Amino acid sequence: MSDIEKEVLLPEDAEEILRRYSFTLARGIKIKDIDTVNLVLQAIFSAGKALYKQVPKKIDRVGNKCPVCKCYLASDPVGDHYCFNCGQAIDWSVEE
Ligand SMILES: [Zn+2]
Repeated sequence: MSDIEKEVLLPEDAEEILRRYSFTLARGIKIKDIDTVNLVLQAIFSAGKALYKQVPKKIDRVGNKCPVCKCYLASDPVGDHYCFNCGQAIDWSVEE
């Protein structure tokens, strides 16, 4: 995993960068500044990670742990379907 993939931007920063450069990229205009290229890539990876967190993952029933960050989650909450620590959407359903 590269440094670009590791560093997640704040949602508002990622959105601003993607908004600012989407027209440039859509028109096929080459971004020549490598720092700007890296910033746009960071924004794309950050957006992808945010989307991925929206897809619920099954809770680890052994110890009631978040499937991503492994922190302890209290018993099935009402209306709280996200890990308080990492923001991962949690599927609390019990398989039959
Ligand atoms: Zn978590």
